[in-house]
Amino acid sequence: MSELAASIAHELNQPLAAIVSNAQAAQRLLSRPPPDIAEARAALDDIAADGRRAGQVIQRMRAMLRKSELSVVAQDLNELVREVTRLLASAALLSDTTVRIDLAPALPPVRGDGVQLQQVLLNLLTNALDAVSRRPPEARLVVVRTRPSDGGLVELSVADSGEGVPPEDLARIFEPFVTTKAHGLGVGLAISRSIVEAHGGRLWAERGPGEGATFRCALPAWNGDTRSVG
Ligand code: ADP
Repeated sequence: MSELAASIAHELNQPLAAIVSNAQAAQRLLSRPPPDIAEARAALDDIAADGRRAGQVIQRMRAMLRKSELSVVAQDLNELVREVTRLLASAALLSDTTVRIDLAPALPPVRGDGVQLQQVLLNLLTNALDAVSRRPPEARLVVVRTRPSDGGLVELSVADSGEGVPPEDLARIFEPFVTTKAHGLGVGLAISRSIVEAHGGRLWAERGPGEGATFRCALPAWNGDTRSVG
C-alpha cells in the first residue's frame, strides 16, 4: 500500500506542480495592464492538459490493479476474517473498540488472491476503527459479518457505530484522493474497490440501519472454474 501510494504521489506531483505554476502565470498575465490574453489562454491550455495527465495516472493505476496477476485459489472468507481480526486485535484493544464477528456456517468459498482480499478487509476495518474513535469508549462497536447472498454471491460486511457517511458522499468516498482525515491519503477505498472488481465482485457503502456506516463486499462464490480472474 505505502509503495503504491508513494509512486502515485510521485507521478502526480509533477502535473500538479505544473498546474499551480501555470495558474499563477495566468493570474499574472491577466492582471497586467493590458492583460495578455493570448499567453493566459496558452497557460490555461497547459493546465487542462496537465489535469488530463493526472487523470490518466489514476486510470493507469486502476487498470494495473485490475490486470495484475492474481494468485487465484479458493478462499474461505470466514478464515480470512479470523486472520485479519487477529491482526487488528491489539489495535482494537488499544482503542477500546469491541470487534464482533458473525460468520455464516458452511459458507461457500470464493476464488481470489488471499493477500489482496486481506488488504480489502484490513482497509475496511482500519476505517471502521477510525470512525468509532470519535465515540465514547462504550459506544465503539465494529461488526464483521459473512453470509451467502442471492445470485451465487458471498457477502462480507463491516458495520460500525461511527458517525456514518453523509448520503451525498456514499459514492464519492471511493474516488481516489477523497479523504476527510487530516493525515488521510484517500486511496484505501479506491484500491479496495479495484481489488474487489478484479475479483468479479462489488464493494459499496451504506448508511447503517441505525447509526454508523456499513461497507458491503459481494464476491462470486467459487464454482470449480479455474480460469484466471480479472
Ligand atoms: P483515508 O482513510 O485515507 O481517508 P479511504 O479511501 O480509506 O481513505 O477513505 C476515504 C474517506 O471515506 C475517509 O476519509 C472517510 O471520510 C470516509 N470513510 C471511510 N470509511 C468510513 C467509515 N467507516 N465511516 C465513516 N466514513 C468513512
